[in-house]
Amino acid sequence: MGVLAGKVCLVTGAGRGIGRSIAIAFAQEGARVAVTARSTAELEEVVGAIRSAGGQALAIVADLADGAAPTRIVEQVRAAWGPIQVLVNNAGIGSSANPKPVVSFDDDFWNLSLQINLTAPYLLTKAVLPEMLQARSGRIITVASINGKIGSLHGAAYAASKHGVLGLMRTLAMETAREGITVNSICPGPVHTAMNDKRLAYDSTRLGKSFDDLAAGLTPIGRRLEPDEIAPLAVYLASDASAAMTGQSINLDGGIVMTG
Ligand code: NAP
Repeated sequence: MGVLAGKVCLVTGAGRGIGRSIAIAFAQEGARVAVTARSTAELEEVVGAIRSAGGQALAIVADLADGAAPTRIVEQVRAAWGPIQVLVNNAGIGSSANPKPVVSFDDDFWNLSLQINLTAPYLLTKAVLPEMLQARSGRIITVASINGKIGSLHGAAYAASKHGVLGLMRTLAMETAREGITVNSICPGPVHTAMNDKRLAYDSTRLGKSFDDLAAGLTPIGRRLEPDEIAPLAVYLASDASAAMTGQSINLDGGIVMTG
């Protein structure tokens, strides 16, 4: 039996990249996994992969730019399987979608970044909390970033939203520490996904360096991480084994940030 056997889990942004890896790893550990994103085709592919391996999965198409989406997503999972026991706030929008220095930053992009990376996790968390408090059990995991701890050149909204979400999750960890709920964040460095490919392409043009040389120079280990290298930490944070860990923001970054 897997370490997440029977657990009802929601993973946002699970159509590709890190969220996809986490959803598949959760299902391999026996969880029932609801996956959400905007792209129907990507969600169907993930659900198909989980089901064909004998797991249980549910696709919910939703745009987290819509402030009403979090409640609707949580209600749909509850209707299918009951209360959510593990929430993974993974969906995100990167700096690469519209990189600019602060002086010329696009205000609409600022608002969108904060909506997806900070407000949506806040609303989703608020929607799952009452039932976790009632059950005196739950796991809230947020995929933040090392840019929640250090700046992101030409990515002010990204860094501000990721710093913000760490503050939210640390506060929530204080509020729930005696309630059987743990609240932890994963802070990845550069991971080989569509989001990071786009950022590397921007930096490659900006600096006049090759994509591959830049990728190799990003981390002390000499390469980007793969999404499957993030998922095992999410499994641990979702499992009973991590009951004594809360309020943490764990760097998983090939050794970029070594100061906490
Ligand atoms: P990705 O490959 O671009 O995947 C992002 C996921 O979020 C997709 O499933 C996307 O689906 C979903 N998403 C984006 N905007 C959305 C919206 N408005 N509504 C609903 N879903 C939305 O990115 P990734 O690299 O796996 O990133 C996952 C998380 O890791 C993000 O929070 C990111 O900030 C964080 N992270 C990534 C890296 C990295 O180097 N890759 C480093 C540190 C932290 P749709 O587009 O279909 O909606």
